[in-house]
Amino acid sequence: MRIHHLNCGTLCPRGARLINGKGGLLEPGRSICHCLLIETDDGLVLLDTGFGVEDVRNPKQLGPVFALMNPQTTIEETALEQVKSLGFDPADVRQIVTTHLDPDHSGGLPDFPEAEVHVFGPELDAAMDPSLRDKPRYLGVHWNHNPKWVRHEVEGDQWFGFEGVRILPDLGTEVLLVPLVGHTKGHTGIAIKRDDDWLLHCGDAYFHHDELATPPSCPPGLRFFQNLNNADRRQRLANQERLRELVARHGEEVQLVCSHDPHELDLAQASSAGAATA
Ligand SMILES: [Zn+2]
Repeated sequence: MRIHHLNCGTLCPRGARLINGKGGLLEPGRSICHCLLIETDDGLVLLDTGFGVEDVRNPKQLGPVFALMNPQTTIEETALEQVKSLGFDPADVRQIVTTHLDPDHSGGLPDFPEAEVHVFGPELDAAMDPSLRDKPRYLGVHWNHNPKWVRHEVEGDQWFGFEGVRILPDLGTEVLLVPLVGHTKGHTGIAIKRDDDWLLHCGDAYFHHDELATPPSCPPGLRFFQNLNNADRRQRLANQERLRELVARHGEEVQLVCSHDPHELDLAQASSAGAATA
């Protein structure tokens, strides 16, 4: 098994200091869409899709919130193009696992129409039949092609004290959905067993690596944004606290990454490049 750390969408909202915690107030910040492409004996698994080809061609379809975030997405950054440039056939992406269905995580679904799409049940419900408040966040255009949804529910499995849902049993390694509800109604982390440890992709359960420190801190623009668009603030903050406890108790056994922190992506890409040349 090999894991590629990809950026499948760049956003550059004004206010680097407010977004990244450093740089000028008027400088553009940098946010990325950290996705994983996992090579397995049973084909490729894509973890979140970032923005899709049609989002790049027609960014207006993403709506006014993303326009404010100054998207700098390119065709080359899409998961579809990165799969090709790594030498694979896009049809080899047989499984997609999603942390949640916001546009920056689901935009590439139409680019892999034959893939099975694994989703936590409450997220599928929230996206397919959105409440009035949720309507602006879910873009039906990302699932007009009728994806092959595979719905998952909590059935009693545990993972480091969290609830876990074992998925993809034929993959040759363990993969679990780890529900981290709060950002959306069915938001979930995704845990992958590596040779010597676990990787937990936390999606949008946190946005900046300093949020996992004790005591935590977060650049004010990111804190504002997370409070603005969370489905359940109390649950989001409680799950962040549990992630901090996980890092404190099991930091040697689990590496955590989130979707939008460029610092974490740089570290992950550097360490997987090091592993490939070692
Ligand atoms: Zn996001």
